[in-house]
Amino acid sequence: MQYKRSSALFAQAEKVIPGGVNSPVRAFGAVGGTPIFIKKAHGPYLIDEDDNQYIDYINSWGPMILGHAFQPVVDAVVEKTKLGTSFGTPTEIETKIAELAVSMVPNIDKIRFVNSGTEACMSAVRLARGFTGKDKIIKFGGCYHGHSDSFLIQAGSGAVTFGSPNSPGVTKGTAKDTLLARFNDLENVEALIQANLNEIACIIIEPVAGNMGCIPPKPNFLQGLRDLCTQHNILLIFDEVMTGFRLSKGGVQQLFGVKADIVCFGKVIGGGLPVGAFAAREEIMNHLAPLGPVYQAGTLSGNPLAMAAGLAMLQALNNDNEIYRRLEEKTAYLHNGMSKVLTESNIVHTINRVGSMISVHFSDTPVVDFQSAADGNNETFKKFFHGLLDRGIYIAPSAFETWFITDALSYDDLDKTIEVVGKVAKTL
Ligand code: PLP
Repeated sequence: MQYKRSSALFAQAEKVIPGGVNSPVRAFGAVGGTPIFIKKAHGPYLIDEDDNQYIDYINSWGPMILGHAFQPVVDAVVEKTKLGTSFGTPTEIETKIAELAVSMVPNIDKIRFVNSGTEACMSAVRLARGFTGKDKIIKFGGCYHGHSDSFLIQAGSGAVTFGSPNSPGVTKGTAKDTLLARFNDLENVEALIQANLNEIACIIIEPVAGNMGCIPPKPNFLQGLRDLCTQHNILLIFDEVMTGFRLSKGGVQQLFGVKADIVCFGKVIGGGLPVGAFAAREEIMNHLAPLGPVYQAGTLSGNPLAMAAGLAMLQALNNDNEIYRRLEEKTAYLHNGMSKVLTESNIVHTINRVGSMISVHFSDTPVVDFQSAADGNNETFKKFFHGLLDRGIYIAPSAFETWFITDALSYDDLDKTIEVVGKVAKTL
């Protein structure tokens, strides 16, 4: 493959956009090389500016669960566009998608739409603080909830202590209100709660983590968090930006039967347009302006094109009773196939999978939290990534990302992927 035009476009972009990209991971910093510029996409395929075609396992980092240029979404957006692109007034379609989302997801009465997953999580935390009258939050190392200040926090000096900023620009004052816990470690969470009794407003978690590879919760971990939250009057926030409408119609709450107090959405709920949302039972949501004192707003929130895309996507998922079974089967097929060919080449690996989220770790120990994810062999991952890319398989350019499986993938696509993984394994 040659990437001539991509390289030229990247050089041009670097002059006017910091690092040439509008979101850092796209710059290939973790794997080296020059980012590929995509021209168009259809079904499970991406086509770049040099006319190379790839089987896509990024899928816009999650939204394209039914493939690229999914016809009902494209049609809905095109039709809406003809009527005007934004009014800044209420529109009927906002209620339609809200009704559908509320009917699909357990334990929520009301939902508010925003423009990104970051906004959803940031607003959910503000709402939790406003509702409980407490300031501190607990988040988990390796979980990502967008780039708002409260979340850009790393572990402080001791295990049961305050976090510290992991980006310049985040103040120490902000960092002191975010406590960092270990994923899948209930005792660690309990110790944090005990050390900060009556000060914690919420625990926010990716209930199936997808930002350190795919990491499932251990049995009883989520229920344990639920029990601790109930006991200590803490709100449990499930950040389902990745998992919402992907792992089941009702997300992780439905999949594992654990109740959250607030749920955040993004990605799939927008069908590929910029949409986020947060939702909860009425008592909590009524604390939001204009009904309640917690302020939250947005010029483009509930934008008609975004709502049209999201509604078409949720309708397609809601009307297909086989979709989550099909996705699971395809992902399991890929898992088994990749495991087989990696093992044949004696490549040390661990594959994690929940539903249509899957990740390959070059590690021989179970990957259960951030540390065990970080222990994977990054040099092997880099070679693996470029080996796949050069043979037409596009996975995320970082060992800490989940692969997203789309229903548009055929078994031929999966077989081709497994064959390529086998070839690349021989070069590692
Ligand atoms: N929460 C999770 C779990 C995510 O994976 C992401 C983004 O990848 C976000 C929040 C932030 O969403 P956005 O990038 O739309 O701001």
